[in-house]
Amino acid sequence: MQNYDAIILGGGLAGISCALELIHEHQTNFMLLESSRQLGGQLPLIKFTIRDLGGAFYKNGQELLDSVNYSVEKFAVPYKTNVAITRVDLSKKQVFTSAGDFEARTIVIATGLRTRLLEVKAQANLLQEIIYWVEGREEDVWNTNVTVIGGGDYATIEALGAAQHGSKVTLVNRGPLRARPDLIEDTKNNPNMTLLLGYEVSAIKGSQNIESVEVTNQKSGEVIAIPTNRLVVKIGSMPNTELFKDELSLGSGGYITVGKDMQTAIPGVYAIGDVTDARYLRLGTAVGGGVTAANELLRRYVRA
Ligand SMILES: Cc1cc2nc3c(=O)[nH]c(=O)nc-3n(C[C@H](O)[C@H](O)[C@H](O)COP(=O)(O)OP(=O)(O)OC[C@H]3O[C@@H](n4cnc5c(N)ncnc54)[C@H](O)[C@@H]3O)c2cc1C
Repeated sequence: MQNYDAIILGGGLAGISCALELIHEHQTNFMLLESSRQLGGQLPLIKFTIRDLGGAFYKNGQELLDSVNYSVEKFAVPYKTNVAITRVDLSKKQVFTSAGDFEARTIVIATGLRTRLLEVKAQANLLQEIIYWVEGREEDVWNTNVTVIGGGDYATIEALGAAQHGSKVTLVNRGPLRARPDLIEDTKNNPNMTLLLGYEVSAIKGSQNIESVEVTNQKSGEVIAIPTNRLVVKIGSMPNTELFKDELSLGSGGYITVGKDMQTAIPGVYAIGDVTDARYLRLGTAVGGGVTAANELLRRYVRA
């Protein structure tokens, strides 16, 4: 077992902010473990200007990530990428991974969230055509037949965006719309939009490309085939908390509950960023959580 003051799980903005705060305390012996091939988490998905991070201004998430990577290298933040975590024992502060086993005084969970994928049987090439992020490829959903799945703000915004650019849009949701009232109003009044509520996707049809989406009414069983060239799915996200569910009682939606010091119910185990609370999925809260957790774990467990 390799011994550390802190192990950070996840190298998105929350985990990296925590690491950059810890690096200033020169004696701190910590390691950041990231499961994917690069640091940054969701940052490369942000294709528009970032203007809500405490006055900082970035052209897009990649520009912010370039700056983050510069700091990570300049301050020699210790990290490993491509690490598969097989098991954690939070009470003993042990982490078992493809890159060896780690033990620490504290653990910081910064594993973020992932997009919820549509669960439907279809040919692999058709499933690959599903658009989960319209950002950066808006023109793909203009002037064509678009089916949007979902009933929240993001689904209605994408549906309205496509309808305003000449597309014939069908918005499908299994329940009522949960979006902001103004978005629901706009959706109902848009002549290019058809609403199918109480329907669930039962099949995606086509050969080379998506040609139609079949939806089934949950009460009557009625099946409707919607001619579709672009299928946009916005059905939310899921926190990456499966590894911790046996030891931490997770809140609604599977998010980790923390106190204002970012500590979980297990002393010495912290959680930060998007994995903690679905209400504040922001860059600012990721950074703030990372800084708070770093200072708290130093004060309570490292310097003590
Ligand atoms: C398209 C888009 C646009 C956005 N625009 C904005 C915006 O303009 N302003 C704003 O404030 N916010 C915006 N956000 C939200 C913001 O990007 C997130 O709130 C923030 O990046 C969350 O950071 P995080 O570190 O908590 O999580 P993530 O970025 O999700 O990082 C988590 C990391 O943990 C890794 N991981 C997962 N499981 C494990 C494991 N078991 N072991 C090790 N590593 C693991 C993941 O690979 C990932 O790298 C946007 C998000 C998206 C998707």
